[in-house]
Amino acid sequence: MDELLDDLEAIVGSGGVLTGADVAARPAAWLRGDPTVARAIVRPRTTEEVSRILSRCHALGQTVVALGGNTNLVDATLTGADDILLSMERMTAIESVDTVGATMTVQAGVPLARVHEAANEAGFAFTLDFGARGSAAIGGAISTNAGGNAVIRYGMAREQVLGLEAVLADGTVVSSMNRMLKNNAGYDLKQLFIGTEGTLGIITRAVLRLRPTLNSLSSALVAVERYESIPPLLNGLGASLGGSLSAFEVLWADFYDTVTADRERHNPPFEPGYPFYVLIESRGGDQASDAARFEAVLADALESGLIADAAIAGSGAQRQALWAIRDDIDRLVELLDPIMAFDVSLPIGDAETYAAGVNRRLAERWPDTFRGTTFGHLGDGNLHFLLTVGSEDKAEQHAVMDIVYEELRPYGGSISAEHGIGLEKRDYLGHSRSDSEIALMKTLKAALDPNGILNPGKVFV
Ligand SMILES: Cc1cc2nc3c(=O)[nH]c(=O)nc-3n(C[C@H](O)[C@H](O)[C@H](O)COP(=O)(O)OP(=O)(O)OC[C@H]3O[C@@H](n4cnc5c(N)ncnc54)[C@H](O)[C@@H]3O)c2cc1C
Repeated sequence: MDELLDDLEAIVGSGGVLTGADVAARPAAWLRGDPTVARAIVRPRTTEEVSRILSRCHALGQTVVALGGNTNLVDATLTGADDILLSMERMTAIESVDTVGATMTVQAGVPLARVHEAANEAGFAFTLDFGARGSAAIGGAISTNAGGNAVIRYGMAREQVLGLEAVLADGTVVSSMNRMLKNNAGYDLKQLFIGTEGTLGIITRAVLRLRPTLNSLSSALVAVERYESIPPLLNGLGASLGGSLSAFEVLWADFYDTVTADRERHNPPFEPGYPFYVLIESRGGDQASDAARFEAVLADALESGLIADAAIAGSGAQRQALWAIRDDIDRLVELLDPIMAFDVSLPIGDAETYAAGVNRRLAERWPDTFRGTTFGHLGDGNLHFLLTVGSEDKAEQHAVMDIVYEELRPYGGSISAEHGIGLEKRDYLGHSRSDSEIALMKTLKAALDPNGILNPGKVFV
């Protein structure tokens, strides 16, 4: 090892710095298996170690990229041969659970699924949830302001964080471990680190907001004949379920038909044939009355013609089977090779016109190789495309992005609903943010990281 790495190993202890084959053994990104390239992977155990590492790197101008579970889908953790990856994998302590104040204090490397378990063990719920829960770390989820399956009810990661501790590029520890819902004493500094993809500081600890465990869960998959029925269905459910709607996931036929075709993996409640399917979920405090209301609301929607058919989950296993269809991204990764993932948002009334326009242009341009699937947390205006045009060529992939993002502009949509910008969407930031917004982002970056060592080149240049 070289002198810097020797110094860093002295900070994190023997075995805390990985180099060579140990670095290459790790995949560089979740969607691709190519090996990680980095000067080293450094694995601190405490905030103090992170502070000492950054202080040293800041002095030398050594670039540092924070690493959680590496499940981001936008090349946000991609490194070159000179970069150091600062992995939070040894910072996995659940420090405390406050059952009176309903908070949990954690280190940044705790996997999201472990946060859920610890909350459940304490009789509470942590409501940030998405498919990568087993691998994504809470610090990564906060750094990307992740969304997921229950945003419509509970909000994104930002709404689940009461306090944060972060280390600035020069090693300064900013401890803002607030535990109250309300605290307007000056600037809310934690927001600097939420959704900023490790470019302004390294999150080391967090105070998370827990919610009451709701005993009753009602879930259904419904089939819909016309897109025009979906916005009134969403608004109607919002009102008639009295604010208990917690998921509204729309699957276009191209998604549903592709995923459910393999009957060894899935036993879908409807045969293919409808253009849209909606996974609906409602959470409440009384199973009997909530289930009755849920059924009555869906019966009304059937009668009014907003939905064409409905399958209500009668058990936890049936609920899981419905979610397994929605969450079977693994199957699409197998089928749509080489895969491209998109995550945009736009007003819900425009989503189908937009999606149809994108799919039409992609099919025209790559008539033999384009295959796409469309789905999303549409209750949040969030649409995903998982697709392939059969090519890994960078220019071809850029041409796909041009189409997806150009088509979005007339609707005033966002090129990133929840995954962030990373490296992949950097060239398109100007599609969704004004010059003055980007200039202010750069001002903040220069103030907090004057040597530009934190996740360089990501989000903007
Ligand atoms: C199957 C699948 C489903 C997904 N579903 C959703 C979904 O429904 N909703 C959604 O929002 N996202 C979803 N995602 C993507 C989501 O953004 C990530 O899963 C998660 O938020 C990132 O966490 P991570 O620990 O893997 O972070 P990483 O990928 O390791 O890092 C992400 C970014 O955060 C930075 N970072 C990581 N840790 C820290 C830290 N401690 N301090 C500062 N910066 C840090 C990194 O430098 C990088 O810029 C999904 C991903 C997959 C693979």
